[in-house]
Amino acid sequence: MPEFSPTEYAVPLFVVAVLAEMIWAKFRAPESYEPKDTLVSLAFGLGSTVAGALLGGFALFVFIAAYEHRVFDFGEQWWSVWWAWPLCFVLDDLKYYWVHRAGHRIRWMWASHVNHHSSQHYNLSTALRQSWTGAFTFGLMFALPLILLGFHPVMIAICGGFNLIYQFWIHTEAIGRMPRWFEAVMNTPSHHRVHHATNPRYLDRNYAGVFIIWDKMFGTFEPEREDEQIRYGIIKQLGSFNLLWAVFHEWIGMLSDIWRAPWKHKLSYLLREPGWSHDGSRDTSDMIRDRWRSRVAEQPPTKPVAARNPIERPGEAA
Ligand SMILES: [Zn+2]
Ligand SMILES: [Zn+2]
Repeated sequence: MPEFSPTEYAVPLFVVAVLAEMIWAKFRAPESYEPKDTLVSLAFGLGSTVAGALLGGFALFVFIAAYEHRVFDFGEQWWSVWWAWPLCFVLDDLKYYWVHRAGHRIRWMWASHVNHHSSQHYNLSTALRQSWTGAFTFGLMFALPLILLGFHPVMIAICGGFNLIYQFWIHTEAIGRMPRWFEAVMNTPSHHRVHHATNPRYLDRNYAGVFIIWDKMFGTFEPEREDEQIRYGIIKQLGSFNLLWAVFHEWIGMLSDIWRAPWKHKLSYLLREPGWSHDGSRDTSDMIRDRWRSRVAEQPPTKPVAARNPIERPGEAA
């Protein structure tokens, strides 16, 4: 079977779509694009492809070794087993959910994944903002159970490529809501805007790649409200368009925390959630959400805010 990388074929489509959205933005939402921000996002996209090619070899080596120990065997012509493809795609998406969740909850992995979140804008170019340093986390190793089950590494890579292509179009404010049935099952612009938001209620929510059902199953789903303006980016915004700072700032922050911390806490700065500190001097997303919740609970009930399509939940003021 020839090597096939679906994302490479999709690049012209990405470029055309970004240009189309830029034209839309010019008339409808001029603030949604900022040239320097878009350039940084494009550099991330380009650099991540180069970094992947340079650093992906080690993962491939491990995967091929693991494949030798597979439990099930789809045979020499594994690519001709048609039903293995949709199965692999769904399982790979489940894997993506957990890699992504770990990417937000383990600082070592966040140091890389933060790259995808550091833009304060939300447009199709944000989708291209992919990490350069993913190979330095153990994220790729989440594929090992699939390989040990018997899925060929190339099949998983192709499914992962289509997964990434799917995720491109959801990075937009140009689309409000999709039909109700689609919103119920699939990841959509609305669900993923929540994921990129820094509003306390939205922190660490909607980790899905293609199917939003995983968030609903594992308790991390949060619907988008139309009565709350989204603030995009990260809790402590970058405040600069310096590309190298954007790539490495969290690695630098994490390593300097480890360096300064007492011995018994060093590992926690690597493995605990972003914002964790041994002296409680910083905020994790859970702390921010809890504080916001108690603040909302203390407030007297206010008049409902007029909204196009408010989604009220019991026990919460608007
Ligand atoms: Zn994320
Ligand atoms: Zn995203």
